Amino acid sequence: MKIAVIGTGYVGLVTGVALAEIGHTVTCIDVDPKKVEALNQGVPTIYEPGLGEMMLRNQKQNRLFFTDQHKLGLADAAVVYLAVGTPQNTDGSANLSYVERAAVEVAEQIDHPVVVVIKSTVPVGTNLRIKRLMMRRIRPGVFIRIASNPEFLREGSAIHDTFHGDRMIIGTEDEATASLLAEINEPFGIPIVKTDLFSSEMIKYASNAFLATKISFINEIANLCEKLGANVEEVAKGMGMDHRIGSAFLRAGIGYGGSCFPKDTNALVQLAGNHHHTFNLLKSVIEVNNQQHRLLIDKILERFGSINGKKVAVLGLAFKPNTDDLRESPALVMIPQLAALGADVIGYDPIAADRGTKWISAPARYTNHVAEALDGADFAVIITDWPDIKRMDPETYVRLMDQPIVFDGRNCYSIAAAREANLEYYSIGRPNVV
Ligand code: NAD
Repeated sequence: MKIAVIGTGYVGLVTGVALAEIGHTVTCIDVDPKKVEALNQGVPTIYEPGLGEMMLRNQKQNRLFFTDQHKLGLADAAVVYLAVGTPQNTDGSANLSYVERAAVEVAEQIDHPVVVVIKSTVPVGTNLRIKRLMMRRIRPGVFIRIASNPEFLREGSAIHDTFHGDRMIIGTEDEATASLLAEINEPFGIPIVKTDLFSSEMIKYASNAFLATKISFINEIANLCEKLGANVEEVAKGMGMDHRIGSAFLRAGIGYGGSCFPKDTNALVQLAGNHHHTFNLLKSVIEVNNQQHRLLIDKILERFGSINGKKVAVLGLAFKPNTDDLRESPALVMIPQLAALGADVIGYDPIAADRGTKWISAPARYTNHVAEALDGADFAVIITDWPDIKRMDPETYVRLMDQPIVFDGRNCYSIAAAREANLEYYSIGRPNVV
């Protein structure tokens, strides 16, 4: 099948590479010529484990191409995926301008029938609206069909998730389109759920809202554990063994971030509001998460009073491990707050360190060497549970820092290990080690 994918971000690039890997001929189109140039040279524009090798292999086998020319990319495509961003508007609603622009571009270029598949996360009703928008612009005699195929990959394990997803949702207006998409995706071997357009769009938002709810729930329990002397990890383990609850997304921490949960929860609240429904539960989930981002600062100030002039090592900038994505990372909140309180901040990230200066407008230095960050620090703050941070012997802090005081927003070490290393250790929902 000849397929075009519009947008080569985290979702579009992974989708294009994976569709090529299962045998389709794929052209990925992006408006950013620099990205296209790098991709054409076999250099992935995002950090994602396993992506580079798979991309190169399919380029060499002439199944995967990149262009910034829509006309070229769409020329003989039977199916066109839209995988452009849907960021947040200032009122929290989803910004659909990129999807609309990409759809108009397809409508104006194509001269043959195509199935347009919307992979971007879009509010209920958008697929139908996009189809109507395109119908008004296509040439006479050209026919389009629309499908909603929301994406569930997680950054950091996107390739794995694409080949081992729990399910694929295909929302269409007719069985023929659903069958075509099922056939295209059949080699992935993932269970397919066929549904209508509106339900498909809602499945994506409801799934993200539910996962965010689980995170905020366990974070509230963690905050209560701290007050009552319980240990949230023991609590989560005991809860998670009940298969009705499940252990996933029950890890307490400084809250969720990233390019999806914050914007998608806000968009669902907005969507509900537009239909005269106040989504109280989700509003609380968002509020708890915002509070959670500030939790470590409160703990730090309680410990030190003032941090003016203190050297602080911030470990991890990315919103989660194994990605270079800083969008909505707690680091974006934490580093400016620490700097505003007069701390001398040095941020460490194994992959995303060079993005620090560009993304965070606060006086701080960045390094991709953890020892450099910890050297002579008065305290450390863990934002991202990168594997190298989790694997690090807690004695490393004692060896390198001026004062081995660690505020761990991701519960990377056991209480016993922190105690054994003589670390002063503050984590989330667990007893302090002092
Ligand atoms: P991104 O910002 O990383 O990538 C978007 C890409 O689209 C950019 O490269 C941009 O240059 C390109 N683009 C914009 N307009 C274009 C146009 N008219 N023609 C061609 N290219 C264009 O976005 P992303 O993180 O990949 O997310 C894409 C969508 O998938 C969003 O709706 C997001 O909510 C959803 N989603 C993201 C993830 C994730 O983990 N990132 C997971 C599931 C769903």
